[in-house]
Amino acid sequence: MKTALTPLTDAQRTVLETCSVLGREKVGVMESLGRALAEDLIAERANPPWNNSAMDGFAVRNADLPANQAVPEPVTLKVIEEVPAGRSATCSVGPGEAIRIMTGAPVPSGSDTVIKIEDTEPTETHVKIFSHVTLGSHIRLQGEDITKGECLIQRGTTIRPAEIGILAMMAKPLIFVHQRPRVAILSTGDELMDLDDQFDQDKITNSNGYAFAAQVREAGGIPILLGISKDRPEALKEKINEAANADILVISGGVSMGDYDFTKIVLNELGENVHAWKLAIKPGQPVTFGTIQRTLCFGLPGNPVSSMITFEQLVRPSILKMSGHSNLFRLTMQAAFQETFSKRPDRRHFLRGIVRIENGIPTVRTTGDQGSGILTSMLKANALIDIPESVEQLNPGDMVSVQILSGYVPHMSS
Ligand code: AMP
Ligand code: MG
Repeated sequence: MKTALTPLTDAQRTVLETCSVLGREKVGVMESLGRALAEDLIAERANPPWNNSAMDGFAVRNADLPANQAVPEPVTLKVIEEVPAGRSATCSVGPGEAIRIMTGAPVPSGSDTVIKIEDTEPTETHVKIFSHVTLGSHIRLQGEDITKGECLIQRGTTIRPAEIGILAMMAKPLIFVHQRPRVAILSTGDELMDLDDQFDQDKITNSNGYAFAAQVREAGGIPILLGISKDRPEALKEKINEAANADILVISGGVSMGDYDFTKIVLNELGENVHAWKLAIKPGQPVTFGTIQRTLCFGLPGNPVSSMITFEQLVRPSILKMSGHSNLFRLTMQAAFQETFSKRPDRRHFLRGIVRIENGIPTVRTTGDQGSGILTSMLKANALIDIPESVEQLNPGDMVSVQILSGYVPHMSS
């Protein structure tokens, strides 16, 4: 009997419902880059903390300035103090007075305007001012950037350099972030050798294990390489045992219908709520998913492209959810397809694509041969072209949805 195909979105829902957000830990602010904030960051102080000068110049009373007229009469004010950035004035600005002020210094009481130095003629004791400026000029107001008490960064936000800057501005040397999931990686196949094994010309390298480890790390998880298991149920079980402390176990290979495809069978035996999906996607149709104790287990297809794409669609969002991120999916956008493409209206296709802006318009073309064993098709790609199940034909100029994998734009000679 032919098994019905499962839409990817159904599989994603099942997977994400199964994973729970990990606990939190306190880390130094620089260790928080890329992690998800595990607390709301409430502003404990305003920014700027007080009115301060945006210019090097003189703090004055606006009423003392030359009148706002075509030919202003210059005025001379007495300079009573000098305030550098980092301390406050001791005097207050009275009528006919000015205080020399540097950028960033608190605006002295009594003054309401700053005149920049270039617009004045200072002497030892006085300053001559030639023209009128509006009330409040060159003063950065207390709280114009951040109000005390406001929620600056929400829990679940991914911490980028801008968040690090704000955390430091709020004088937070330590913050709570969510824990990173430990992701065990196991490759199955009698045809595999590892990087440190003696070279054997009848074997292929376990490239999936390393690609997965990199995908785990890029998603913010901690990869644990378990190496290779032979295509024997007992060997596989032994290796799976080593993943008991992991939050996620990703196994490549052995999920198809071949005589040596034991991953599905073993996961069914050891696990709970095991689904052996035939996903309505290409590449990457066969995927097994279930749990062993508290470990989420994924059996992904062995073909290098299928494995990376199923990882991208199912494992990556799980890692992000467990690590507490609110945003689980890649940025998607529309781009004008540059080629002709046809398929049967049954499965959702993920073509490896190059997105570029041409004449102001986002365009996308494929990276060439799209076979599921052609790992080089991933090399130039900065996006996955997401072609819905129902679509049969695409022509140049048709708008397609793309998932942006990175900001990398490969050099192209054409
Ligand atoms: P399988 O899903 O086990 O039937 O594997 C399908 C094909 O994927 C195999 O014939 C290999 O060519 C390839 N393959 C499986 N595992 C790996 C791996 N860890 N690294 C690279 N290629 C693999
Ligand atoms: Mg195999």
